[in-house]
Amino acid sequence: MGTRPPKLYPLFAELTGLAGVGPKTGKLFEALGVTKPRDLIFTLPSGGTDRRLRDGFVGVPLPATVTLRATIGQHHPPRSRTRPYRISAHDGHSHFQIVYFHANGEWLARHLPEGAVRVISGKMEVFDSIAQMVHPDHVLREEDAQNLPPFEASYPLTAGLTQKTVTKAMGDALTRLPDMPEWIDPSVRAAQGWPVWSEAVVQAHAPHSARDLSVDAPARTRLAYDEVLSHQLTLALARAQQKRAKGRITQGDGRLRDQVLRALGFDPTGAQTRAIAEITQDMGDGARMNRLLQGDVGSGKTLVALMAMLCAVEAGGQAALMVPTEILARQHMESLAPLVEPLGLDIGLITGRDTGAERADKREALRTGQLQLAIGTHALFQKGVEFADLRLAVVDEQHRFGVRQRMDLSAKGDGVDVLVMTATPIPRSLALSQYGDMDVSVLDEKPPGRKPVETVLVSAGRLDQVVARLQNAVAEGRQAYWVCPLVEESEVTEATAAEDRFRALRISLGEGVVDLVHGQMPPAQKDAAMARFVQGDARVLVATTVIEVGVNVPNATIMVIEQAERFGLAQLHQLRGRVGRGAAQSTCLMLYDPPLGETAKARLGILRETEDGFRIAEEDLRLRGAGDVLGLAQSGLPRFQIADLERQAHLMALAQDDARLHLTRDPDLTTERGEALRLLLYLMERDQSVGLLRVG
Ligand code: ADP
Ligand code: MG
Repeated sequence: MGTRPPKLYPLFAELTGLAGVGPKTGKLFEALGVTKPRDLIFTLPSGGTDRRLRDGFVGVPLPATVTLRATIGQHHPPRSRTRPYRISAHDGHSHFQIVYFHANGEWLARHLPEGAVRVISGKMEVFDSIAQMVHPDHVLREEDAQNLPPFEASYPLTAGLTQKTVTKAMGDALTRLPDMPEWIDPSVRAAQGWPVWSEAVVQAHAPHSARDLSVDAPARTRLAYDEVLSHQLTLALARAQQKRAKGRITQGDGRLRDQVLRALGFDPTGAQTRAIAEITQDMGDGARMNRLLQGDVGSGKTLVALMAMLCAVEAGGQAALMVPTEILARQHMESLAPLVEPLGLDIGLITGRDTGAERADKREALRTGQLQLAIGTHALFQKGVEFADLRLAVVDEQHRFGVRQRMDLSAKGDGVDVLVMTATPIPRSLALSQYGDMDVSVLDEKPPGRKPVETVLVSAGRLDQVVARLQNAVAEGRQAYWVCPLVEESEVTEATAAEDRFRALRISLGEGVVDLVHGQMPPAQKDAAMARFVQGDARVLVATTVIEVGVNVPNATIMVIEQAERFGLAQLHQLRGRVGRGAAQSTCLMLYDPPLGETAKARLGILRETEDGFRIAEEDLRLRGAGDVLGLAQSGLPRFQIADLERQAHLMALAQDDARLHLTRDPDLTTERGEALRLLLYLMERDQSVGLLRVG
């Protein structure tokens, strides 16, 4: 890690060095996350007040904030402490009163002496038919009036702090701005019409109107871009570092892949073919692959993964596929084994449930290379699991894993190529901020012949009709999922709800027809239930969201979701994606508890309109905000202070191009602009990113 350049010292100094900030005020700022001048200057005004001097307030609809030149009249001290102190005043056209509660009469006599002229700004209102201003925001001598900005910024920092305190400290902080070199590409800055850094900071704190406060005001946009650029630069540096890490050249002869493709009853889609080509290209060059495969539910990611894995095996190595749940691991095993075993390959299932001799045997087979393909849960990257020659690690449903686990798996071999797959359709802006260190392949095309899922909103009051419909479906030999309400606080409560529903449905539909899976069940029991459903023995599967990810039962054509309004859109989309996988018409019944609020109605409406996961994600982002879309804790999303991911997605794309392009020309950030970019990283407190450079 490098050390912070001296130029930045003033911005990283003690906050208490600023005007009006003592230890007590310092604590208040600290509670708001502001511990140094740097934090303060990146706290931009959230509002502002028009303070232009008016020639009187006649004709202004009251209450309103006005700034007037007034002649001070008579003082009317209160007769008791509980009454206000009143001072008459005249703005040249009309009378009004200045009112103070708990006033210090002496102080007022000194600052507002009768006969004096003062510039006064504050909220004028009518009380008892008298215009009055209670506790003016500003009282200035005429000669000081020019100190009052025509438009006064106000800050979001409250909690014991007054705007005056913040403004004063801010004013001081703004005098300490170092002279920064430009880190933004000059042509980008010119094209966007952005000010240089110090001007942008000053302008952002000195808005002239409400328009200057909007996210697309040039000064603010520039500062947002700085933030996003430092983030993208970090990701680009991480990416470059990974690429420098020596990879293996993994080139297969296509023998195994051809056989599997011939055995399949279908051709890969254009998107699958493209993704396979991109992946095998990465595997075949000397750099380490770090690629994201993004594809909506049902887009056929598994086939792409299989092709990549076979490529590794053709080259004499091993490949591992890691999935988030036991159920999913088993299911992948069941669908892949019949494809690869006829080729004479050994494929093994590695989960946390393997015990004793079985576990030892599997580990031995991995260590000797007898197992060429491994499918498993996080048990794959545990200590004691060793591979003879792991060449490719595929991580399915990436959002369920952290970056750490991804890394752990790739550490199981030398220069392991990594492919992560996600079905969570992430809006482009978020994908860029979350996966900017990766190369991306997208499956933007679904296998042909899929019928759209009919999606219906049904009030919970009509539950009986839903059950009757299920009865008919079951009689026709169809299968259905029944998803129980999401209970945020407790998996136990969630399980109880599922058990209750299971019992009720068993009564209406019959013994043996209905089965149950939820997170609280012993794993073996879960598997057994899943297996009965996959085989078609059970016709209706009552479940909690454990079935959300990946499960594939083409004969299931009905999806019932209870209290759909409690789920995230992306999650509903995933759930719905469990049906519509076969040739038959499928239906998704979203039950809700009435009354449905406007937003809930709008959200569920989107699902009825489209099955395009990306559109759904974009709309979800718009309606809910970035943090929510991916689930806060798991998202790994950076927090931006100024940039607004929802409204400034274009900045993210611009910054990624800019950062990557710059690094191709100046990988060690040693040019003039490179040096400036280093400074930006320090300014944005990304000191660690500097550590990613070969020359720190
Ligand atoms: P996901 O991307 O959600 O993981 P899967 O890989 O499970 O999707 O594929 C969904 C279904 O589509 C599977 O039954 C799979 O066999 C089938 N499938 C995949 N690719 C094609 C294709 N090119 N043509 C027809 N069916 C396909
Ligand atoms: Mg899948």
